[in-house]
Amino acid sequence: MSADATPPLLPATEIRALRRRLLGWYAPRRRALPWRESPDSYRVWVSEVMLQQTRIAVVVPAYERFLARFPTLDALARAAEEDVLAAWSGLGYYRRARSLHRAAQVLAAAGETGFPADPERARALPGVGAYTAAAVLSIAHGRCLAAVDGNVVRVLSRLFCLGRPDSRQRPHADVAALLLDPRRPGDWNQALMELGQTVCTPRNPDCGGCPVRGHCRARAAGTVARYPQATPRRAAEVVRLAMLAVSDGAGSWLLERGVFPYLTHLWLPLTGAAESMPPGAVAVGEVRHAIVHRALRVQVLALRLSRARLRRMASAGAPGSRRVFTVEEIGAIGRSSLLTKVLRLAQGATGRSAPDQPASR
Ligand code: SF4
Repeated sequence: MSADATPPLLPATEIRALRRRLLGWYAPRRRALPWRESPDSYRVWVSEVMLQQTRIAVVVPAYERFLARFPTLDALARAAEEDVLAAWSGLGYYRRARSLHRAAQVLAAAGETGFPADPERARALPGVGAYTAAAVLSIAHGRCLAAVDGNVVRVLSRLFCLGRPDSRQRPHADVAALLLDPRRPGDWNQALMELGQTVCTPRNPDCGGCPVRGHCRARAAGTVARYPQATPRRAAEVVRLAMLAVSDGAGSWLLERGVFPYLTHLWLPLTGAAESMPPGAVAVGEVRHAIVHRALRVQVLALRLSRARLRRMASAGAPGSRRVFTVEEIGAIGRSSLLTKVLRLAQGATGRSAPDQPASR
């Protein structure tokens, strides 16, 4: 069967058989994950946001830390953004944490204590797209909405020899809606995603152990390797800039916020063009860092100053934009792994330790 962008016609008997097989496979294999202990919509929501672009093994400890600190939507809404970002440390992609925080504030202001059960209200929240809304609503509220992530696209592409999905995830979203078990939408969505994570993996899928192999068109045609069809990659834009790591040589570092163009909410070393760096700064090497479609090439310079000059330099920036941190304080804030990489490189020149690497990326 060749790739086709239109949804396949599926007989009701096949749909029922697929549901039976996949849910039967999932029941005994369902992994015990902390957000599955109770279908509380706030907890499910936090887990779904964390799981986007982050592996389960990294998410589990971060999720438990986050929930211990913000056990309810109200606690999250009332927290300072700085504390939320600190609790997100190690997960990366801090934009997710800021959107989650803002959405919690919107809901708390409306007197809500959990994720809304209405799809339109859910989709109107900051950071909540079609996937997150469908996943949380189906798992926590039992709503009949198919959640289509990369795993689901891969499984459906292979099962039905589907071509690349369009910008609205079609035809995969239509097929997923057709297959969704209306009696157990949350379990169905999780089962399909788990099949993609553990069996129908990107490379070397375990077709012999697959519960739906008898329905798989690509397997029957011997064309599994052709699916999912690759999306043309957008070439990364190379961005060159310089960062100045300023220290007193006794464990304090000067950081600023709001200047670095792609991570304006995070504390980072002073950023600018290499030519604009002060005299006395020593070039110590280059750090490479990827942010979405950008490949950063950061020339790192180091400068050691007295404590008094470090503080004077801190007060020279816009109000609130610069601050002197100890290594321990840096360890406790939400931070990009870019900061850790730069300070690690600079520490040799300034003679003091840098914070540990965050867990992700
Ligand atoms: Fe994926 Fe293989 Fe199962 Fe088809 S048979 S759905 S390719 S694991």
